[in-house]
Amino acid sequence: MQDVDMWHRAVGEARLRIADYAARTPVVLSDPLSGQLGHPVWFKCEQFQPMGAFKIRGAANALVALRDCGQLLGAVTYSTGNHGLAVACVAQKLGIPAIICISRHVPDNKVAALRARGAEIVIDGESQDDAHVRAEQLAQERDFALIEPFDDPDVIAGQGTIAAEILEQVPDVAQVVVPVSGGGLAAGVGVELKAQRPDVHVVGVSMEGGAVMYESLKRGFPVQMPESPTLADSLQGGIGLDNRWTMQMVGEFVDEMILVSETEISQAMGFLAVEEGIVVEGAAAVTAAWLRRGEALSGPAVAILTGRNVDGTVVASLMAEYTGTRLQHNPIP
Ligand SMILES: *Cc1c(COP(=O)(O)O)cnc(C)c1O
Repeated sequence: MQDVDMWHRAVGEARLRIADYAARTPVVLSDPLSGQLGHPVWFKCEQFQPMGAFKIRGAANALVALRDCGQLLGAVTYSTGNHGLAVACVAQKLGIPAIICISRHVPDNKVAALRARGAEIVIDGESQDDAHVRAEQLAQERDFALIEPFDDPDVIAGQGTIAAEILEQVPDVAQVVVPVSGGGLAAGVGVELKAQRPDVHVVGVSMEGGAVMYESLKRGFPVQMPESPTLADSLQGGIGLDNRWTMQMVGEFVDEMILVSETEISQAMGFLAVEEGIVVEGAAAVTAAWLRRGEALSGPAVAILTGRNVDGTVVASLMAEYTGTRLQHNPIP
């Protein structure tokens, strides 16, 4: 059992710490989804954050907390992309060096963006786990702070600031839909919602292939799973076999876990771009994919759109595909 009030205070402190680094992102109403579901559906637009994803919140909270204790020589992390970008961005603003360890499989557009942020990039190993080991070594060698991507109280509290904003922006919210990978986002958002409004229904969504948190919760202990290719590449990776915080918190504060297929994710990305003028990566579109099924009963609902770091050619082809399918079903006379 977590001390919900303690977490609520930590989220309040995080809001003050991250104010100079992260944006208070807007919420926008979705006309098509509100019409389909019969209650208002809002998007919480974290894709507009600096570096294009909500990860800036957790990274800023963790780094500024360490800076305020006077313990910060530099930052090192391991990441499939967005967390690494966020650490690099905040480190640059704080004037300290950053080292990012990534596996060979991180897409080229993300590697280029990391380099552009002045971070030192170490490409090593086949998986996030290999990159993790390397990051721990480097943190030891150089006496830098290792900033965990999700399983850390300051990172979780930083991500929880999204929920505090949602409660101000949509005060009558009844359901919040959140993508789940390592679970830092879902843990922070879940605990802050339960602290302030325990009646809000919290839904976590992952992709069908490699939903590690989903499987771990089902079995009752952290599992490892092979990675399979997915449009939701930011949701890939394990939860850590020695998971300390997020698995227990997601189990306690997320009411329902949903898996969506690759087809649903690609259609949701096309839908968001064509119908809503919103370009997001697959990891963000899983929330819209779930809502598009029409099974989300409680409303008003808020879907967190977590990031926009996706190759433009991918979005372009999904838009063309979506438009083609729509024309088949509703031919122009
Ligand atoms: C990291 C990330 C997620 C998942 O967050 P977790 O805290 O790992 O569950 C979702 N969407 C995007 C775009 C991300 O970068």
